[in-house]
Amino acid sequence: MPPSNSQPSYTKGPEPGPLFEIPIGDAFDATVSRHGDREALVVRHQGLRYSWAELGAEVERHARALMALGLTAGDRVGIWSPNCAEWCIAQFATAKIGAILVNINPAYRLEDLRYALNQSGCQWLICADTFKTSDYHRMVLDLVPSLAGTEPGRLDDPGAPELRGVISLADQPPAGFLPWRQLADHGARVSEQTLRQRQGGLDANDPINIQYTSGTTGFPKGATLSHRNILNNGHLVGESLGLNERDRLVIPVPLYHCFGMVMGNLACVTHGTTMIYPDAGFDPETTLRAVAEEKATALYGVPTMFIAELASPVRQEVDLSSLRTGIMAGATCPVEVMRKVIDEMHMSEVQIAYGMTETSPVSLQTGADDELERRVSTVGRTQPHLETKLVDEHGATVGRGEIGELCTRGYSVMLGYWNNPQGTAEAIDGQGWMHTGDLAQMDEQGYVRIVGRAKDLIIRGGENVYPREIEEFLYTHEAVEEVQVIGVADERYGEEIVAWVKARPGAEVDGAVLRAFCQDRIAHFKVPRWFRLVDDFPMTVTGKIQKFRMREISERNLKEHGHA
Ligand code: AMP
Repeated sequence: MPPSNSQPSYTKGPEPGPLFEIPIGDAFDATVSRHGDREALVVRHQGLRYSWAELGAEVERHARALMALGLTAGDRVGIWSPNCAEWCIAQFATAKIGAILVNINPAYRLEDLRYALNQSGCQWLICADTFKTSDYHRMVLDLVPSLAGTEPGRLDDPGAPELRGVISLADQPPAGFLPWRQLADHGARVSEQTLRQRQGGLDANDPINIQYTSGTTGFPKGATLSHRNILNNGHLVGESLGLNERDRLVIPVPLYHCFGMVMGNLACVTHGTTMIYPDAGFDPETTLRAVAEEKATALYGVPTMFIAELASPVRQEVDLSSLRTGIMAGATCPVEVMRKVIDEMHMSEVQIAYGMTETSPVSLQTGADDELERRVSTVGRTQPHLETKLVDEHGATVGRGEIGELCTRGYSVMLGYWNNPQGTAEAIDGQGWMHTGDLAQMDEQGYVRIVGRAKDLIIRGGENVYPREIEEFLYTHEAVEEVQVIGVADERYGEEIVAWVKARPGAEVDGAVLRAFCQDRIAHFKVPRWFRLVDDFPMTVTGKIQKFRMREISERNLKEHGHA
């Protein structure tokens, strides 16, 4: 993209129709009455299937039960669980009564839990029993030991001073936990009419969800989102995909993240599309089987999930021909991976979305009618009703083709960080622009290419090096299955480049081969100084590669070998 100062890097999305100005519960009810008998939710690992009418009834019973526990609009309810039917029911039950759902990352451990529960002041927590190496009951009891001897709802423990009780998704939880399967019985104490009144008093601008962001520095911050923020974002993401009630979307991404609960659940709810959860956590095999056996038309994933699905032997065994569309998002989507998803997974209309938790999340998205080259190499154009601009370090808008920090403005920008006005003021400026910390370029037609995180930019001997560029280049080597490039501290150049490479199964490759491949094909200062062959990358549960962890590991390793 050659630099050009002809136009500023600013675009405004189209305004195809008015935004939803209703609370989430009303939108959910409308879909239940419109699509009653059609399939709403399939949870494969639990063997559960619900029509919209059945899901509507479950949500209603649990909404009344949560009111019976004393929860009022604006109270916080935490949910700490991998993907399951109860997650979805809790999302819409809390939305109906105006309780703010606090998504707690299932990978959190005791201290993270303490922080999230107390920072948001949760009155109730819904938790799973175990998942992978996490024993949720154990950690809850370590945090609030008096729970074991307390009647549910009467907790008063210094470990989590505002917490009144804990609902367990286990069939037979330990003493002190309220079992989820008994929760609905409490609903009988609250009439349908009382629930209607509560729902009728909610405002679309009320906060309804708190999501703790990955927290690259310091403590995680609780992005606080309103009904209006996330309902509209889910709706517009689904519009871009052309979803309707005949579509069936496989959602292997975690529900605690906006990719699952907004781009997944809310896009489906606003379009009558069937939500399909293949598993509790991501697994390429169960995901591919879910697509084939459920005849799914759409599939979501972060790039690493699609890379794992493409590499899975199951892909050759199953029929993916029902697929039409889907979204790759959450991290840099390599061009080669996009091409393969189109060619080898039947996802001819796959789109890339870009965004962040603080913007509900999606701000830019490619469209099915964008030409192929743009669909695989850019994050598309500004979503409806939003504005995008790219700014330099002084806040001035850069010209088209120049690199600047991406900023977003419009309905999707969060209300703020929960109880953190200073953090909010640092993220959202006086004109309402959310500063993302991502570096991007915009072309003459308004298509945006993400270059990388501002903090991932490598400055080697005074040259700016964008890891993405080297990654894209290395993906063109046939032996490379996955590659991530980082900068490590270096006395001579300030920073040096390290590439972590996962080779394709059976491929013979080493650093010397890859270095020779780079020589004369990319500028000498971009050729990684070190290549590290790995089987895995340090990753969050959302599938985001943790470059800061890679940096720590590489720096330690190089020091041990006398290179730093
Ligand atoms: P989160 O708040 O966890 O959703 O993370 C948001 C961050 O993910 C953004 O600030 C980007 O750095 C990254 N991200 C999301 N989508 C994309 C994408 N399509 N391409 C590149 N980076 C992305």
